[in-house]
Amino acid sequence: MDSQVHNKSALHVQAGIEKPATVNPRFARGKRKKLTEQPASWFLEGIRKGDRSILSRAITLIESNLPAHRKLAQEIIELCLPYSGKSFRIGITGVPGVGKSTFIEAFGMHVTQDLDKKLAVLAIDPSSQRTKGSILGDKTRMEKLTNDINAFIRPSPSAGSLGGVAQKTRESIILCEAAGYEIILVETVGVGQSETAVHGMVDFFLLLMLSGAGDELQGIKRGIMEMADAILINKADGDNKNRAELARRQYANALHLFPPTESGWIPKTQTCSAYTGDGISDVWTIMDSYINETRINGYFDHKRKEQKNYILQASIENNLKQNFYNNEEVKKLFKSIEERILSDEISAYKGADKLLETYFKNIDFG
Ligand code: GDP
Repeated sequence: MDSQVHNKSALHVQAGIEKPATVNPRFARGKRKKLTEQPASWFLEGIRKGDRSILSRAITLIESNLPAHRKLAQEIIELCLPYSGKSFRIGITGVPGVGKSTFIEAFGMHVTQDLDKKLAVLAIDPSSQRTKGSILGDKTRMEKLTNDINAFIRPSPSAGSLGGVAQKTRESIILCEAAGYEIILVETVGVGQSETAVHGMVDFFLLLMLSGAGDELQGIKRGIMEMADAILINKADGDNKNRAELARRQYANALHLFPPTESGWIPKTQTCSAYTGDGISDVWTIMDSYINETRINGYFDHKRKEQKNYILQASIENNLKQNFYNNEEVKKLFKSIEERILSDEISAYKGADKLLETYFKNIDFG
């Protein structure tokens, strides 16, 4: 090859101007300013029109902890509320490797293509708070769904406590519903507390499992199984088909031993393969009969009301607690009261009374 041409190849580093710093500090500042540049009504209009980039920006505001962002986010949520509540909300959990993302891709394509419904996928990933990198946020996951105009995928917000993250996800659900998403999937990893948080914000809870050699009922806590409205045995393909069916029967038997559910719904078991697509449409059939059954017996609306009530109570408790512990007079007194309790000078009850008395005398409403 001609050496001159070779040297001009884009594969070679050409001498020239020094590469500028990748991160322009002005850019970061400018970006932040941009988010609050528009009023809440502008966001509402974009969201209602189904503009995914405006929806994303609004969710970024929800996920932010900057006071100005939080304030605008709250305004957007208020405006979106009248248009919310009409979707079917599904929670999905299962240990890493069970096939959640592969399943969501297959199930999601069934929802958008065959059922012609709009689908939003949100995630709560407790590990992302520790590692700062969400294992549910990997861009290579759900490639087909990512490119589907009827789907919206949002990785897990990474900052804050589980309670904080759960609140952000609940608020994001409201925005997705206002944007016309009919099915909302909230994914979480089956390793800890996050299932309970997800269960508290969805209509239907799906547990993904695998068939194992004789240890079918191990690895997942009984409490999580009790929350499930359906248990899916994934990877029911190839050599694994019979084993998956055997596991399904074992789970069905185990579910019989649980007390009856408040909804009157009998949790279902089903095998499926996120690879071959076998059983995927049956999953929707199960959900559809859940919707019909619980709408008729009133449980669907009852559960939604209960969830709202729970949020009301939880946020009152949280705010009160925060207000109490942030109170300057309480802070001043706390240490000495604590010491007096530990040295048995006063009882813990008495100490609590004294602190509360101080609090009520010096409430700071700010
Ligand atoms: P996640 O960690 O729960 O999200 O699991 P992934 O969706 O990343 O899947 C974990 C592994 O299982 C990947 O290698 C998938 O290709 C594989 N997998 C997922 N679903 C199926 C299935 O239905 N059949 C088979 N044979 N493999 C699957």
